[in-house]
Amino acid sequence: MIALSVNNLTVTYDKQPALENVSFAVPEGSLTGIIGPNGAGKSTLIKSILQLLPTLSGSVEVFDEPYKKQKKIIGYVPQRSEVDWDFPTNALDVVLMGRYRHIGWFKRANKKEIEWGKTCLAKVGMADYANRQISQLSGGQQQRVFLARALAQDARIYFMDEPFAGVDAATEKAIIQLMKDWKSEGKTVLVVHHDLQTVEDYFDHVLLLNKTPIQYGETQKVFTLSNLERAYGGKIAFLDKSPVVPQGAE
Ligand code: ADP
Ligand code: MG
Repeated sequence: MIALSVNNLTVTYDKQPALENVSFAVPEGSLTGIIGPNGAGKSTLIKSILQLLPTLSGSVEVFDEPYKKQKKIIGYVPQRSEVDWDFPTNALDVVLMGRYRHIGWFKRANKKEIEWGKTCLAKVGMADYANRQISQLSGGQQQRVFLARALAQDARIYFMDEPFAGVDAATEKAIIQLMKDWKSEGKTVLVVHHDLQTVEDYFDHVLLLNKTPIQYGETQKVFTLSNLERAYGGKIAFLDKSPVVPQGAE
């Protein structure tokens, strides 16, 4: 079964194309790494799939239905740097936002919802921080709150934008564990990922992207030197035979 199908998607900012003719189909239960240099359009891709940005042309289907019909089964963990962490709200409220489609806008969460939110915070080691303002959490703790929100939502397909950026080793482990749990539950997960050295460890599918898709498919078929060179335009180096992109080379 195809969980997500993106067909000829083109997205522009001020008439400048950020994505051109992007098409790929993601099988249910897969764990996909979205890989490509800075500015390749990775975040744009996720936001346009989630209809947070207007698309110029193309279509997106989730389990054979248009996005609008499937909102409830889609979870999103945005890039931490794009979130306003000064917004005055506490960790538990952020988690409960993941439930608003279940609770309903403008309605108060009931006791059961609140308990579930707390359970999700506990699952990511944040039980003691439910009432803490999000501005007063460390980067890793903020990311865990977003993981708890995604858990609370109990989606069938998850999008995560650079979840490992700026987090501590323990949080990185928690994220990997969560991705693996979701996969074993048959959920479909797409993750924008920066670190080429861990791609083969973490993901069974890869989308190599640079404005247009270089290739999508199983990691061993897509994550090849020649494809990486096409995506990164020769800005690739090697460390213990693993490809890396040197700092600043993007
Ligand atoms: P990535 O996530 O792969 O680093 P982005 O999707 O953030 O790439 O950006 C793709 C391209 O679109 C970049 O050239 C970026 O500068 C441009 N871009 C992103 N967001 C905007 C915006 N809001 N307005 C104009 N240009 C944008
Ligand atoms: Mg990005």
